[in-house]
Amino acid sequence: MPSTVDRGDVPPVRDTWPLGVMRGRGGRAEANVRVSPSTYQEVSDLLSRADGSRRIVPIGGRSAVTGAVELAPGDLALDLTRLDQVLEIDEHNLTARVQAGVNGWKLEQELNARGLTLGHYPSSLPVATIGGLVSTRSSGQESTLYGNIEDLVMGLTVCLADGTVAEARPGPRSAIGPALHELFIGAEGGLGVVLEAVLRISRLPAETLGRGWDFATLEAGLEAMREIVQRGLRPLVMRLYDREDTAFQQSAADGCLLVAGVAGEPALAAAGAGVVESVCGAGGAKDLGEEPFLRWRERRFHLSRERLLDSLRAPGSFVDTIEVAAAWDRLPPLHAQVKPVLAAEGIGLCHFSHAYPQGCCAYFTFAGSAATEEEAEAAYQRCWAGAMQACLELGATIGHHHGVGQVRAPWVRDEMGEWWQVWERVRSSLDPKDVMNPNAVGGTQPRPAKSS
Ligand SMILES: Cc1cc2nc3c(=O)[nH]c(=O)nc-3n(C[C@H](O)[C@H](O)[C@H](O)COP(=O)(O)OP(=O)(O)OC[C@H]3O[C@@H](n4cnc5c(N)ncnc54)[C@H](O)[C@@H]3O)c2cc1C
Repeated sequence: MPSTVDRGDVPPVRDTWPLGVMRGRGGRAEANVRVSPSTYQEVSDLLSRADGSRRIVPIGGRSAVTGAVELAPGDLALDLTRLDQVLEIDEHNLTARVQAGVNGWKLEQELNARGLTLGHYPSSLPVATIGGLVSTRSSGQESTLYGNIEDLVMGLTVCLADGTVAEARPGPRSAIGPALHELFIGAEGGLGVVLEAVLRISRLPAETLGRGWDFATLEAGLEAMREIVQRGLRPLVMRLYDREDTAFQQSAADGCLLVAGVAGEPALAAAGAGVVESVCGAGGAKDLGEEPFLRWRERRFHLSRERLLDSLRAPGSFVDTIEVAAAWDRLPPLHAQVKPVLAAEGIGLCHFSHAYPQGCCAYFTFAGSAATEEEAEAAYQRCWAGAMQACLELGATIGHHHGVGQVRAPWVRDEMGEWWQVWERVRSSLDPKDVMNPNAVGGTQPRPAKSS
């Protein structure tokens, strides 16, 4: 089937970046041209003809929350959602080969029907595509057990900015040069187009056990999370809510709620649950039973793209999330520094998840409203600036899983240091005509003048 082209009769193409939505409230932006190829050849033909006079922005489910997808008039949206085939599920070797536009939820359903799982459950799964998840370096709610998207990608087929198609290479691992496909994991459509992914999949766990724990202090809860992962256990999930977020969850906990679940073979799950119980007990936590875990599972996709957009409808309102990550000893000071900045503008909540032996993700949610749109934007910007500054001061990363886009552009060079130059050189050599997404990874910089 040939590609479809919509001209001008579609709404402006943008993602779910709250500030982009706020800026668009009430106004009418110009529509963009959208091309929806259904073959790799069509993508390659389009890119090989591109000369940089208009930028090409790959789009999947448009659930990114960073402004990575926001087109200037004349730019072209390259909609990958018609590349939606699950090409192969290999039950023997536990791999899946899928096209970039495959919807994450649809893939998970197909795998579940065969007793398998990708183990990648971002809250946006119902709308996100595999290409988008790869391109934003995403994390699912069960990342402590299954890993993040970079752990699940075995290989990628990509179309470079000049139209060259580089196919996924074979094998569960290879030492034949650097794993160059990994450049595209988190590149936000700035280097080329992801066409296809070979993914590691798992068997669905036979047993899943989970409970809630009530910790008197946030520090005690963080210590329990650290102890659990440093003992070598890889829980399915651990989510520790600070006091305000615990109250927001309407949980029975008086202090800080930890939701912890384990999964696997029944004997392994039971042993894991025993480790969690003994660590939480030693930390003085009260056992709240299974209810908090079951409730979390039941509601874990409730924050949908539509709900987020709905909560941004009223003029003057703002809401967003800021996910960062830090070493265990930096998390309490980070929390202490960021929370008052958010609370000063309205509501500020935080939970901790995605645990590693070395640290974890701190996920802040903030919301408020102001008398005017200008004041709302200023309050929104103060929240981001305060959080980013605290991260840079404390040696935390300014982003754990949503990527960079426009929202982190002011701080990305501070975090990357000299690596920013490496990124710039990679980008300018793979995309010398500046064809690809201008908002990827903080945006393109003026290129240094060529020496004669
Ligand atoms: C309600 C909600 C909950 C969320 N929860 C999570 C979460 O739990 N974990 C998480 O990690 N993220 C989460 N996100 C963020 C978002 O869903 C992810 O960033 C997701 O990966 C985006 O996928 P998408 O298909 O919507 O991509 P898009 O938003 O369409 O695109 C994202 C970026 O990838 C590029 N891109 C898309 N497809 C391709 C391709 N084929 N080739 C090259 N570049 C491409 C785009 O140019 C853009 O830069 C959430 C967002 C929302 C709105």
